[in-house]
Amino acid sequence: MTALATPGYQPSHIAGNPATLTERQRELIAMVSALGPGFAARAERYDRQASFPFENYAELRAAGLLGICVPSAHGGLGADFATYVLVAAELGRWCGSTALSFNMHVSSCLWAGLVADGLDMTPGQRAEHERIRAIHFERIVRDGQVYAQPFSEGGAAAAGAAPWGTVAQRVDGGYVVNGRKIFASLAGAADCYGVLCTLERPDHSGGSRRDAIYLAVPAKAPGVSVYGDWDPLGMRGTVSRNLLFQDVFVPDDARLMPEGVYFQAVSRYPHMFATLSPTYMGVAQAAYDFTVQYLRAEVPGMPPVLRRMYPTKQYAVAEMRIKLEATRALFLQNARDARIDPDKDTRMRLYAAHYTIMENANALCQLAIRTCGGQGMLKSLPLERLYRDSRCGSLMLPWTAELCLDRLGRECLYEGNERDEAIE
Ligand SMILES: Cc1cc2nc3c(=O)[nH]c(=O)nc-3n(C[C@H](O)[C@H](O)[C@H](O)COP(=O)(O)OP(=O)(O)OC[C@H]3O[C@@H](n4cnc5c(N)ncnc54)[C@H](O)[C@@H]3O)c2cc1C
Repeated sequence: MTALATPGYQPSHIAGNPATLTERQRELIAMVSALGPGFAARAERYDRQASFPFENYAELRAAGLLGICVPSAHGGLGADFATYVLVAAELGRWCGSTALSFNMHVSSCLWAGLVADGLDMTPGQRAEHERIRAIHFERIVRDGQVYAQPFSEGGAAAAGAAPWGTVAQRVDGGYVVNGRKIFASLAGAADCYGVLCTLERPDHSGGSRRDAIYLAVPAKAPGVSVYGDWDPLGMRGTVSRNLLFQDVFVPDDARLMPEGVYFQAVSRYPHMFATLSPTYMGVAQAAYDFTVQYLRAEVPGMPPVLRRMYPTKQYAVAEMRIKLEATRALFLQNARDARIDPDKDTRMRLYAAHYTIMENANALCQLAIRTCGGQGMLKSLPLERLYRDSRCGSLMLPWTAELCLDRLGRECLYEGNERDEAIE
């Protein structure tokens, strides 16, 4: 059976209805949509080779997008949280690995920029922070430098349950950093690593989570090395290898937040970690788009065999669309909710949104593979890559799917300092 002449499938805007967005948001999303087909064409190669998408970064740099969350006073595009996550989701639609690693770069700008703006600092700290962040923002905007964000260490620290094992010792004019980080997206590709460390106390006693310090360590600084293999299931183009820091000296200008302020950020601006999920919103949209195009026999290069007339396929696509719209609704709500000191209800919605986006992206990809069938999962098509990439979302600390459930379950049932007797 062949299709009657039709206008072809028109994929949805990533925000659903673009009329709800500002003109600036639409413009920035359109910039990424214009780059997208090139990213999608290269995604298969980066995935197969587990290599870093340098060409995509060159295009993001040329478009000025490396500075998307650098405040406009510092020469960047000055996107706020909501604008960035929409752009990130659009990027994820075309290449999941590029979107995920790009998020590590952008988070460095958001944390030192918009998040830091809302935090309490003494006037002295504020002036010093302003001076230091200008140096880093200039490197990003003027020199096109890329910042990574390695915080995971393989222990409880990245889950927020222990101090960082990587240690910064105060010395004359700066700090000496020692430790290791695992799963560092952009390893070997970034110019600078935004490293979370525990600031060693003068008496060398063990630090607490409050002693966290966030330092920009140049990739070329003596004592920095990248090690380990990178041959994972999905998100292979993030090249998230391990980093070793051995007696690495960084000057005071490396402080991306004043001493002691990172803990305040984590406690008061939880949405700072919610930028990991937009990539997966994009992956979910891409899986849905592919399925509709496939069933309509509109995938370029595939024989024109229609599959849309089978009720079971229609039922599966309906299920996918329902999941996609529910995911998008929470994604958009979360984009609007981000602010300093959110109330408990907003925080619960944040975990619910994060969990839903990460889990539904994978559920949608699973349905897509089952529905499109055998030919649809061949490596010559993007669906099997989307499926593998989508599985990674729920594993990302600090809010893995398990940790979202833990937090939601506990906090929905307990208020303030309520405690129960231990269960035998
Ligand atoms: C593609 C990809 C890119 C990544 N990029 C980066 C990056 O750029 N920077 C970065 O810092 N990290 C990055 N990560 C790492 C990621 O955030 C996690 O740190 C990593 O996946 C954790 O792996 P693990 O096996 O050490 O987890 P573990 O710490 O062993 O945790 C395993 C599971 O146990 C549960 N768990 C852990 N701690 C607790 C706890 N205290 N209470 C209850 N349950 C708990 C969680 O559900 C978790 O999924 C990336 C990961 C992936 C997959």
